[in-house]
Amino acid sequence: MIVQKLKIYDTLKKETVLFEPLHPGYVGMYVCGPTVYSNAHLGNCRTYVSFDVIYRYLMHIGYKVRYVRNITDAGHLEGDLDEGDDKFAKKAILEQIEPMEIVQRYTVDFHHVLNLFNTLPPSIEPTATGHIIEQIEMTQKIIENGYAYENNGTVYFDVDKFSKEYPYTQLSGRNLEELLNNTRELEGQNDKKGRLDFALWIKAKPETLMRWNSPWGEGFPGWHIECSAMSSKYLGHEFDIHGGGMDLIPTHHTNEIAQNIACHKNTPARYWVHTNMLTVNGQKMSKSLGNAFLPEELFSGNHQILDKGYSPMAVRFFMLQAHYRSTLDFSNEALQASEKGLNRLMNAVKLLNNINVSVKSTVDIKGLTNNIYEALNEDFNTPVAIAGLFEGVRFINLINDGKETITASDKLLLQTLFKEIVFDVLGLKEEQSERTEKIDGLMQMILEFRTEAKANKDFLKSDWIRERLKEIGFEIKDSKEGTKYTIL
Ligand code: AMP
Ligand code: ZN
Repeated sequence: MIVQKLKIYDTLKKETVLFEPLHPGYVGMYVCGPTVYSNAHLGNCRTYVSFDVIYRYLMHIGYKVRYVRNITDAGHLEGDLDEGDDKFAKKAILEQIEPMEIVQRYTVDFHHVLNLFNTLPPSIEPTATGHIIEQIEMTQKIIENGYAYENNGTVYFDVDKFSKEYPYTQLSGRNLEELLNNTRELEGQNDKKGRLDFALWIKAKPETLMRWNSPWGEGFPGWHIECSAMSSKYLGHEFDIHGGGMDLIPTHHTNEIAQNIACHKNTPARYWVHTNMLTVNGQKMSKSLGNAFLPEELFSGNHQILDKGYSPMAVRFFMLQAHYRSTLDFSNEALQASEKGLNRLMNAVKLLNNINVSVKSTVDIKGLTNNIYEALNEDFNTPVAIAGLFEGVRFINLINDGKETITASDKLLLQTLFKEIVFDVLGLKEEQSERTEKIDGLMQMILEFRTEAKANKDFLKSDWIRERLKEIGFEIKDSKEGTKYTIL
């Protein structure tokens, strides 16, 4: 079943448009992957969970999807303007290990975390270091076509020339003059002709650890060229969807488009899809701002801003309760509400199998199904689809209470709808929630004993409880609001 009326918001056209893939029945999708020099934080995960739902939905409605998501394991400097240290080398020097050991450690971590969130692996996961030749070839072609120049072993993209012929800032909607005025003149960047020029290939310094031979001497590729080279290789010069977080629009994706046009004469993707940011108190979660926390900390509750730990599925559900183009602000209250909501949803799924059928339906299952698909077809609107599921939950509970009735065929439709949307499309799964609830109950009981011991001034016993729990792997923290525990 291919639902023909899927609509997607395209950042380039700045409107929601009908989705028509290049080859009917097939979708090519490229999503910029992580820079594996540190642990993936929850903000990164939001972006990949959003694309996981897009991937799942496209497959669900019948497309054969080739989903390419790269691993950036070379060439990403600290600054957006080709300045600063190489992120991998900096960390490698700090820890006195090989840059590729850094890459391996954080690639493994990334896969582990995304697996906890139940995201599907992409069809191809190419690495920048595995595609140096392709990046060199693409750079050569861009030079041949007259849009890049070499200076002292570094190759720059000629933004000035390109922007006279093509709308360089179309994706970001920014003004070229404004960009120029806002760009700092950087020390040691005098090799560039224009201030907005960016590096396709960067000359290695004597101390550079990750380096390769090239027609311009030893060096390493710029960050943007890897995605142009790898998407062209695996999806062709033109493909359907290119995605990433919104923060990639002004530089990384703008430059990718310029490189592709300069090399192949066409914009790579037909639809540009961007996810909005996960924020904490309204501020983007990011490593550099120091407000990022790791999924592991969220699961264990081991972080100062967390009241307790939350399960991976409660967090996934929390993410899907906002549309991917809206910001999502982290808060304990919102997560607790998602945890409760997810429990209600999963209980209803179980209850649905046991409800009695009757000769007549007093609930509109076809209408409900239409509403949910309409929401997902409207730019993957998961919060509206979830609202539809809760309407279904209400039906199930009313039928179970004998206040509404359902026929056998409608029950089957509802079971299929829930199975497909909850598990296949939203990617939720049953967790050992009963076990977790029991552990929680047990812990509350032990903490009550401890509170009682403290009230009786039996500090020997209260300290003993704390120490014993620590040995088992639970940490107790006392505060004004009461005693909390975290699983170590
Ligand atoms: P990086 O590893 O920094 O290259 O980022 C990997 C992906 O995570 C990119 O698509 C970013 O746009 C995205 N990202 C980074 N921070 C956040 C955030 N706070 N919320 C959502 N996505 C983010
Ligand atoms: Zn990219």
